[in-house]
Amino acid sequence: MNGLLAVDPVSRTATLQAGLRAPHAEELLAAHGFTLGHFPQSYEWATIGGFAATRSSGQASAGHGRFDDMVLGLTLATPEGTVETGRAPRSAAGPDLRQLLLGSEGAFGVITSVTVRVRPVPRARLYDGWRFPDFRRGTDALRRLAQDGPRPTVLRLSDETETLVGLAQPDAIGSGAPDENAGCLAVVGFEGTDEDTARGRAAAAAVLREAGGEPLGEEPGRRWAHGRYSAPYLRDALLDAGAFAETLETAAFWSRLPELYAGVRDALTAALTGAGTPPLVMCHVSHVYENGASLYFTVVSAQGDDPLAHWTRAKHAANDAILAAGGTITHHHGVGTDHRDWYVREAGDLAVDALRAVKRRLDPAGVLNPGVLLPAD
Ligand SMILES: Cc1cc2nc3c(=O)[nH]c(=O)nc-3n(C[C@H](O)[C@H](O)[C@H](O)COP(=O)(O)OP(=O)(O)OC[C@H]3O[C@@H](n4cnc5c(N)ncnc54)[C@H](O)[C@@H]3O)c2cc1C
Repeated sequence: MNGLLAVDPVSRTATLQAGLRAPHAEELLAAHGFTLGHFPQSYEWATIGGFAATRSSGQASAGHGRFDDMVLGLTLATPEGTVETGRAPRSAAGPDLRQLLLGSEGAFGVITSVTVRVRPVPRARLYDGWRFPDFRRGTDALRRLAQDGPRPTVLRLSDETETLVGLAQPDAIGSGAPDENAGCLAVVGFEGTDEDTARGRAAAAAVLREAGGEPLGEEPGRRWAHGRYSAPYLRDALLDAGAFAETLETAAFWSRLPELYAGVRDALTAALTGAGTPPLVMCHVSHVYENGASLYFTVVSAQGDDPLAHWTRAKHAANDAILAAGGTITHHHGVGTDHRDWYVREAGDLAVDALRAVKRRLDPAGVLNPGVLLPAD
């Protein structure tokens, strides 16, 4: 299931089989002059079906939207038959069944193909670095762009700790410690025609300057674009070296974001410090919307005697802090089994029972990913 089934250049849609890995899908679309514009950090390995099954969100989500925004229709194979959705781009014919199947994580059926909206391959890509004196002012600047425009294609902001660690590049090691007053680094990217990107960049620059930003030119943006898929490869090497590294993410409305940021950081710091392994907690604003944003945390610490139990305690503390601060248990990593109990708390028993009824109808024998997303019956 790794083919491009159809391209409709007039409607700008494409139907892709679910087993296509993202780079291959981009290659096939590029032959028709199109791109999906979906570049999550898992881009090199993840599949089209996986993107739909987990409601994935890519690094260019500010401009291209989340994967679930891109999906116009999909086909789901279930033990009870096939479900087809997506007769038209939008419809008022009852609830949107696409939304019931997107994010179903294999618990309702196997997504076999997905029809997505596609866009012309951009002629220009520009990623600029901006410095903000602190995370609060940087976050306010991102909110202004997300709410009042111009809306960049890529928009992310590292907190002070993540900025400092990012500045400690291998080629900088030995040439002195990074400046502790480095502030917070934002990457602001525009993709499109030469004229659109130039216009967007100039208009965004005016907003960012007024919000307290200082332009750093293209070098930090180029560095981000170059290394954007490489960080996860570090994890196993860190584990082998006795360090522990993990990530988690959430999202909330803008008004709750400062509380969410502080709550998750405090919970992780307290849990890991209490266990005798004080952590380094880094964070960035990874995805923005008109009404809120996603926060992505990276945690590094020593491993402790039992690394799994050690992380489980810290992760549970972070999950509780996320729900207490009004965040969602996952913005894009999905539920799986790790987040399932918190997903049940977030959604509520009645909603979860309704989803279980759907599962029972589509998968009466309970053979599809039992225990994933929903508690096993
Ligand atoms: C290093 C790393 C970085 C990541 N970065 C991001 C990121 O930036 N943004 C983001 O959104 N996510 C990210 N993720 C999470 C994940 O890769 C994505 O959510 C992706 O969509 C998963 O696709 P996959 O093909 O790898 O699915 P898998 O991981 O193989 O599967 C995920 C779940 O979906 C189910 N599933 C897979 N395919 C289908 C199908 N065809 N039909 C029904 N169910 C199916 C599986 O059974 C499983 O429950 C990251 C993960 C890793 C490991």
